[in-house]
Amino acid sequence: MSNTNSNENNCNQCHEPLAWKAGLYHCVSCNQDYKKISFCPDCNAELEKLQACGATNYFCNTCHSLKSKSRVSHQFKSCTS
Ligand SMILES: [Zn+2]
Ligand SMILES: [Zn+2]
Repeated sequence: MSNTNSNENNCNQCHEPLAWKAGLYHCVSCNQDYKKISFCPDCNAELEKLQACGATNYFCNTCHSLKSKSRVSHQFKSCTS
């Protein structure tokens, strides 16, 4: 996995930085909203994001365990609603 870009919130299609808008990421160029989803490193299920005391944790409902942020993989999914 390459990690050359310091800004990880970029559009899948045009690679422009995404704007944060009403709980979603928005690409102005593509006029597309994106939802950031997190996947379990162990079973690939979508993780539930938990926020407590300024820290972000991820919980896998399939593994029934918390996943460390550093192991979680993220992906932007376009919202078609
Ligand atoms: Zn775009
Ligand atoms: Zn899992």
